[in-house]
Amino acid sequence: QTKRADNFGAGPTGLPLPVLQRVLDEGLSYGDSGMSVMEMSHRSRWYDEIQASAETRLRRLLNLPEEFSVLFLQGGASLQFAMIPMNFLGAGQTAGYVTTGSFAKKAYSEAKKVGSVRIIASSEDSGFRTLPAIEGSQVPQDLAYVHFTSNNTIYGTQWQTWPTDVVPPVVADMSSDILSRPIDANRFHLIYAGAQKNLGIAGLTVVLVNQSWVHDKSVAGLPSMLSYQTHLDNDSRYNTPPAFAVYVLSVLLEWIEEQGGLPAITARNEEKARLLYGVLDNSDGFYQGVAEANVRSKMNVTFRLQNQDLEPEFLSAAKAAGFVGLGGHRSVGGCRVSLYNAVDLAQVERLLTFMQTFRSKH
Ligand code: PMP
Repeated sequence: QTKRADNFGAGPTGLPLPVLQRVLDEGLSYGDSGMSVMEMSHRSRWYDEIQASAETRLRRLLNLPEEFSVLFLQGGASLQFAMIPMNFLGAGQTAGYVTTGSFAKKAYSEAKKVGSVRIIASSEDSGFRTLPAIEGSQVPQDLAYVHFTSNNTIYGTQWQTWPTDVVPPVVADMSSDILSRPIDANRFHLIYAGAQKNLGIAGLTVVLVNQSWVHDKSVAGLPSMLSYQTHLDNDSRYNTPPAFAVYVLSVLLEWIEEQGGLPAITARNEEKARLLYGVLDNSDGFYQGVAEANVRSKMNVTFRLQNQDLEPEFLSAAKAAGFVGLGGHRSVGGCRVSLYNAVDLAQVERLLTFMQTFRSKH
């Protein structure tokens, strides 16, 4: 029996064991194909089935309205930072960005290379520990779109509710919290996420986009691979898609459905976060949460030790005890526990026991 680490990494990170097991079981032959998904044509009937299953399950889990297309692309969420303005920021238009962390700022900087952009709200003044208050009615109505980051992976903040009555199309980077909770997709024109956190493995980027927006508003003349219209017209198979990553996604989505779908996943995520923040808040200041309490992320829990000199020892003791990925992002340091869907309650409890013991020893 191989010893598996308790993986709290920010991504790529652990997969649910039954998902991994199934992928391994089908590793020599998928169905009656006599080959693995890694070896088969993306035009084969088996791959047709896999991609259709991933799409159907995603639509069902997110309750996605008909007018959305599901695209399976490559290039990571980072390529979306550029593709979004290339497609939707036409000459003479301006796009609005809400900068709430490092990736939000990257999205803004990339868009700036493409066209006219402005920051309509930011939490940079607080060191990204908070989220800005946004009144939908104060967002200029003539923006080409407004870009949000739903969960700020590095700082550990997450929008708990979305600003209402925003008039321009809303675009959201949900890389680090997609499928962790229900969303009202009707509020968005485009949602994107790199797969390597809650959607499986690296190499795949999922884009959910309003078809009419693409048809009616896309900038013409883009290189084919950078145009959403191309991918939409070709069922995400204009070129070879990341077939294996789409396959892992389909198995993962089936697992989520078996767990009871998003209501069950959400309840479990809330419980995990409640337990962990509880230990931070009841540690007499030994552990100190970084994000402001009302915007704390349920996916990435960031904290410091009151005595920061003790952090290297905390991290190495955690590592020795079999906990992986607890270091904060290299840009901010400190500690971070990522509680993506694959992390189960037993793992969180093991970690909390470790944290309590560490505290009592120091
Ligand atoms: N956005 C967010 C919120 C992220 O957490 C990340 C990756 N950690 C990215 C974008 C960049 O994703 P990728 O590496 O897939 O380009």
